[in-house]
Amino acid sequence: MQTLDKQTLETRLCTLCGKELAQCSAHELYGALLNLTQSMAGERVSSDGKKKLYYISAEFLIGKLLSNNLINLGIYDQVKELLAAHGKSLSEIEEIEPEPSLGNGGLGRLAACFLDSIATLGLNGDGIGLNYHFGLFKQVFSDNLQQETPNPWMGEPSWLTKTDISYPISFKGFTLTSRLYDIQVTGYGNRTNKLHLFDVESIDEGLVEDGSITFDKENVPKNLTLFLYPDDSDKAGHLLRIYQQYFMVSNAARLILDECTAKGCKLYDLPDYAVIQINDTHPTMVIPELIRLLMEKGIEMDTAIDVVSKTCAYTNHTILAEALEKWPISYLKQCVPQLVPIIEILDDRIRRRFSNEKVAIIDREDKVHMAHIDIHYGFAVNGVAALHTDILKKNELNAFYQLYPEKFSNKTNGITFRRWLLHCNPRLAAMITDLIGDGYKHDATQLEKLWAYQDDEKVLRQLLAIKKENKQALAAYILEKQGLKLDADSIFDIQIKRLHEYKRQQLNALYLIHEYLEIKRGKRPAAPVTAIFGAKAAPAYTIAKDIIHLILCLQQLTAEDPQVSPWLRVVMVENYNVTLAERLIPACDISEQISLASKEASGTGNMKFMLNGAITLGTDDGANVEIHELVGDDHIYIFGDSSEEVIKRYADQSYCSKDYYEKDEELKEAVDFIISEKMLEIGSEKHLQRLYNELLGKDWFMTFPDFQDYIKVKNQALSDHQDKLSWAKKMLKNISQAGFFSSDRTIEEYNRDIWKL
Ligand SMILES: *Cc1c(COP(=O)(O)O)cnc(C)c1O
Repeated sequence: MQTLDKQTLETRLCTLCGKELAQCSAHELYGALLNLTQSMAGERVSSDGKKKLYYISAEFLIGKLLSNNLINLGIYDQVKELLAAHGKSLSEIEEIEPEPSLGNGGLGRLAACFLDSIATLGLNGDGIGLNYHFGLFKQVFSDNLQQETPNPWMGEPSWLTKTDISYPISFKGFTLTSRLYDIQVTGYGNRTNKLHLFDVESIDEGLVEDGSITFDKENVPKNLTLFLYPDDSDKAGHLLRIYQQYFMVSNAARLILDECTAKGCKLYDLPDYAVIQINDTHPTMVIPELIRLLMEKGIEMDTAIDVVSKTCAYTNHTILAEALEKWPISYLKQCVPQLVPIIEILDDRIRRRFSNEKVAIIDREDKVHMAHIDIHYGFAVNGVAALHTDILKKNELNAFYQLYPEKFSNKTNGITFRRWLLHCNPRLAAMITDLIGDGYKHDATQLEKLWAYQDDEKVLRQLLAIKKENKQALAAYILEKQGLKLDADSIFDIQIKRLHEYKRQQLNALYLIHEYLEIKRGKRPAAPVTAIFGAKAAPAYTIAKDIIHLILCLQQLTAEDPQVSPWLRVVMVENYNVTLAERLIPACDISEQISLASKEASGTGNMKFMLNGAITLGTDDGANVEIHELVGDDHIYIFGDSSEEVIKRYADQSYCSKDYYEKDEELKEAVDFIISEKMLEIGSEKHLQRLYNELLGKDWFMTFPDFQDYIKVKNQALSDHQDKLSWAKKMLKNISQAGFFSSDRTIEEYNRDIWKL
């Protein structure tokens, strides 16, 4: 790996700052380091082979970039030591950097991990997305409720580089001029790739008034790239999403054609020069748009369709019916009429070939099923975990699987170990290096060597000591940021992920109510527990916001009750994002992965926790299934109904939450507590009553059937945690088996089976 000697490093930084390091402010040092990083990343040779991957995604949840770039450039330790020698702290400088929140959660974070691995493996591949000025909203709590405020991140100095690439993008009635901005993506000891983010020249941040995330949704030329996924609870929001998606893919298609043509591509041989990975359905319009552009350049329709079909591959991320995009054809006519005749022809061809209404592109209600375009007119379809791909083949996409079995494959998600181990848990990384050398940094499967230490008490105690230090560091951070004092000797039980009913934060909350009531009755848990949540709810997702309200009320309830607080605390961190995840995950004892079986496609949070020595408490869902297989029954806590049972229960519509409520005293007591006098003193009746009604009237994600098993298995985990050495052994097992979840492995599989670069 390249390095800089100490003197050169110091000289370069001083030159960039224009003064001695000791005299520089943290802000000046941040600017200088950013500059240094960018020029070092640019100096790396990244030759373009003939074929290139284009990973198109509406989200890239990249997180802060400085430290990761320093690690990937191989100069992190030198920089840290040099700064320390001049009385400066790198972690203070890291605080200056704003987090670009260009994603909602797992899907966007996956795209960011993939970019890191693509560059690390030396593959020729760039990301393409949008340059949202405010990204995802910033969450603040007031009166135990979530409030949303804008999250600007583009101030100077910036990782964005303005390029001279620009295209005219036409919509019905107007044309916008785009502008491409690039962010360099450094691989770990390897090449530098690019994240291409398109923006509109006419954007106007003035549309966003101070402190509010509402804006004029109809002024598209000025608002197009202001926010990620604007609130789409109304028609104007839906149209804006279509405008965003088309803007993203039309720019992408033009850039791809330009780059390929420059390399000598003759358009009909596009599949030899480009492969396009469509990350979920948001970039689907790239298919009709590319066909349209090829036809504009004189290619016949049949050939254009054939060429595009051999270039595009699709990743499915969900089986939640409500999350599969369907746009009314009238909306497309209103925004991008030029695509409509092409989509109609694509549909017509399918209807001529197959009589099954289920596989049509335009349904009887004149809605366009975006995923169906991808499956018919792409050459590969993949799910993101073994169970998920199985369910796609057997259930959700079975009709398509019958038609094209050869297109389907599984690519279990992964995470980059650079960010999720080397950067976020340097203590653990150093310990691992001491034990097995640093080969694992390039070949994650080498972590298996750690298992040789399963009975080494010194190693096990060291693991516990590192966990303790990470918990103390987190406690100090939460005290500073939110004024909440946590006991680092308690068990840290953590559930951090987007707030969604299928992820079942409400099940965790019901457990906590139950435990609270048990403690009030004098029945203490096996050990003091701190239950930590972090989650944003989509601004228009009412029940999700009600669940946040419930959790924040429980936070207040447990903190204010002297009988309870030594044994049970509930804490919700504000504005959960990548930066917070990096602090929370290394400090976790129990990783909550409790989605309703069959509903979580994969999860990647589960992998980050495992790698950092947390033990999973989860359902047999998504990649939990694979974690379970890798670590074995003794090193994980699995509870709840199986995905088969759940799928069956949905199919026969037999679920009635009230039946469970009436049969189970403890469940009834916990549910009733939501609207008890005690809770109504703290919280808002409107929110609590609505949540109570939802659970009793529907409970669509079936928390009640899993309630008792969850209590039993969770309490078992809490009591097992008391046997420190046997717990540490579970930790070691999890870390040693985490290698499979390196995104380097995932990307190798994509390349082997789909991209073939
Ligand atoms: C990893 C990650 C996620 C995904 O978490 P899941 O538990 O897999 O849903 C979401 N948000 C952030 C900030 C992450 O780092």
